[in-house]
Amino acid sequence: MDIGAHVRSSGGLPAALARGREIRADVIQVFTQSPRMWRAARHDAETLARVRAEIAVGNRLRRVFCHATYLVNLATPDAALLERSRTCLVDNLTTAAAIGADGLVLHVGSHLGGGFAGCRDQVAKSLLAVLEETEEVLGRPGCPILLENAAGAGGTVGRSFTELAELIDAAAGDARLGVCLDTQHLFASGVAYDTPEKADQVVADIEHHVGLERLACLHVNDSAVPLGANRDRHANLGEGEIGEMALSLLLGHPSLETCAAILEVPGNGDGPRDLDVALARRLQQAGASHFAKRSARGMGRSAGTAR
Ligand SMILES: [Zn+2]
Ligand SMILES: [Zn+2]
Repeated sequence: MDIGAHVRSSGGLPAALARGREIRADVIQVFTQSPRMWRAARHDAETLARVRAEIAVGNRLRRVFCHATYLVNLATPDAALLERSRTCLVDNLTTAAAIGADGLVLHVGSHLGGGFAGCRDQVAKSLLAVLEETEEVLGRPGCPILLENAAGAGGTVGRSFTELAELIDAAAGDARLGVCLDTQHLFASGVAYDTPEKADQVVADIEHHVGLERLACLHVNDSAVPLGANRDRHANLGEGEIGEMALSLLLGHPSLETCAAILEVPGNGDGPRDLDVALARRLQQAGASHFAKRSARGMGRSAGTAR
């Protein structure tokens, strides 16, 4: 499993790569522009190509994901905001594709009380339009949009795999749509995974509703708020309400092995440190060896997928 972290892009994308190497990440996630501003960043083509080439060489740091601008809201009832969101997403996706990202992670947005059913088709249509427009700009296929599960606050869209699956279905199951599983959002939305059986159930739910082939990455975060609190509050691994045991069971789950694992923890206040990445690696190994022992005992995956 490739394990790494979200890193700051201040000073430009090459500086972000350097930060990723400092914390010994296999994979990084970056914002392609300031996450709380609409204005697109001006990246020169040469820099983007250099970043892409460095990632492709794959000297430990071999994968990059991008995270979409936080202001984007595809579920909004406000037509002007929707239009701005689409334009911004095309900018995000164009940069992501230019650096060879494996995907652009997106918080779908909030319907602000209008209900999921009322915004589903608008979100699906917008996703497809953004993907098409990006391909026109690039003159070639871009990278997938990865819908992230939400913690469930207010009118947020994507609070369950069922909702994410409905969005993908409404977009005709387009192959350019995937998902990102945030462990903190999952816990805050009321799903526990503190036993191997519960971790199996999480995996079975993703498989059943979305399909594991669409799950490209995990956001690995402990939670500063309790189970079902519906708030998006990350904590360092082992320092929150989820705990090391449960995190190790998702990180080390055999069905999630090919996903990239990206930390978005606070560290000392400056984001994930090398010791956070190292801890995630140890938890992944502990979880993997737990499942390996279980299947050696002959009560492996059939026990987990029988439900
Ligand atoms: Zn996340
Ligand atoms: Zn979050």
